[in-house]
Amino acid sequence: MEGKRKTGALKVLHISPEAAPFSKVGGLADVAGSLPPALRRHSADCRLLTPAWDGVLDSIRDQGLQLTRLSRKAEAVIRWRIYRATVWKCVADGLPVYLLDAPDLFGNTIYPRDLDPDTAIPFLFLSLAALDLPETALWKPEIIHCHDWATAPLPAALQWHRYFRHSRGDYRTVFTIHNLAHQGVLPLMSLEEWGIEADARHLGAMEFFGMANLMKAALVASDAITTVSPTYAGEIQTDAGGEGLAGLLRSVSFKVSGILNGIDVNYWDPESDALLPANYSAKDPAGKKICRTSLLEKAGWPDDERPIFSIVGRMVEQKGFPILIPALETLVDLGCRLFIVGSGQPEYEYACGKAAERWPDSVFVFSGYDEPLAHLAYAGGDFFLMPSRFEPCGLSQLISLRYGTIPVVRSVGGLADTVFDFGSPRGNGVVFHDYTVQALVEAVSRAITVHRDERAREELVLEGMKANYSWDRSAPIYARLYASLLQ
Ligand code: ADP
Repeated sequence: MEGKRKTGALKVLHISPEAAPFSKVGGLADVAGSLPPALRRHSADCRLLTPAWDGVLDSIRDQGLQLTRLSRKAEAVIRWRIYRATVWKCVADGLPVYLLDAPDLFGNTIYPRDLDPDTAIPFLFLSLAALDLPETALWKPEIIHCHDWATAPLPAALQWHRYFRHSRGDYRTVFTIHNLAHQGVLPLMSLEEWGIEADARHLGAMEFFGMANLMKAALVASDAITTVSPTYAGEIQTDAGGEGLAGLLRSVSFKVSGILNGIDVNYWDPESDALLPANYSAKDPAGKKICRTSLLEKAGWPDDERPIFSIVGRMVEQKGFPILIPALETLVDLGCRLFIVGSGQPEYEYACGKAAERWPDSVFVFSGYDEPLAHLAYAGGDFFLMPSRFEPCGLSQLISLRYGTIPVVRSVGGLADTVFDFGSPRGNGVVFHDYTVQALVEAVSRAITVHRDERAREELVLEGMKANYSWDRSAPIYARLYASLLQ
């Protein structure tokens, strides 16, 4: 991008494998669906490219949004084969969204169980389709903002692909790490088949312990790297938190920054949330009691004063299930109720299911993805439990704070940046440090003490509810980053 840019709004394309409300596995979807519209309000011409996974187009039509089919298909050649997708455009919350419709590539599961040269093809296609957008959509971004490993092939292609490297000067790239634990690692031989130059197959580029690492490629090739909280930005540069990439991240630390995620405060708003049995606010909290009663009914629990700890999230090691499961018996003995909504690793689903069978009066588990039930858990609980081993940002604690449900968290990553212990000046939750069963149990015991003290409890709830968790805090930081890349 030589010379001075013309004036006018910065043109920024976000690409993401998942984006709410179209498709969602976890927090990445929330961010991809809410950051670009927030940036538009800060005068960048942001747009989004994402796959139309199974059912997405129908649900857009059901919502009454208009879909326009672009006259030209997106195309990419991968391993001598031409892949094509119909491109649909819709405008959601003021954001122009391009949806790639190709049922052979984008079916009913977003992430493959095992990544190999074949199962990676949808993500290669998604990445390369972004470079086809000037042809398909007649709109050329100046900056392409990639989210997580599934879009990492784009910066890699601009750097090392035999054909696409000639477009390198046309774009600036930003790569956001939403979770360093998922890097997209494949056999090194895939690269030759994809048209990646041999000079990418060494240690300073995509090579990673004899394999090809897509995220590593993006970290090397992108103009800027962001991650989703300041604390996590530091943690990933330590050997303990770097998932094998700490050394590389330290070597590119000049282009790494941690920018705290926000939430869509219009969607996550207890005052207007249509999925709740009653609405409420800090000023008029009566509806929260109705939500609590509804949660108790859902779990089949009689109403009593025992505190309810909600959990909503993926049942994976990252979220702290290895310390939660051995703690369950003690937590039940302490008088806690646990309302768990989540799905993930079979061993954790099984262990939680067994706990629900053993203590039906204290443990409720829904295994699966359920948006309305998640809203009820956020609104109807007294506390929200997140004993994460690591947490890049975490959105659930932000949602629970906004819903007046006190977070009990391990102080790590974005949790350390957003939840402060109740003794401290900005206290809005209960915090523990060690990743142990004992530390978790102690934190829950302290939460129970808070629960019994009505004044202390109300103070924490109000502190949580009054804070600003919107993108308005972080959108200007992204806008400044974009501007700096084009200077
Ligand atoms: P992560 O991205 O690591 O999964 P986050 O806290 O950043 O965790 O975001 C998780 C998002 O996914 C939240 O919006 C949460 O409400 C939602 N979520 C996770 N699991 C479920 C589930 N089983 N049902 C409904 N929503 C869920």
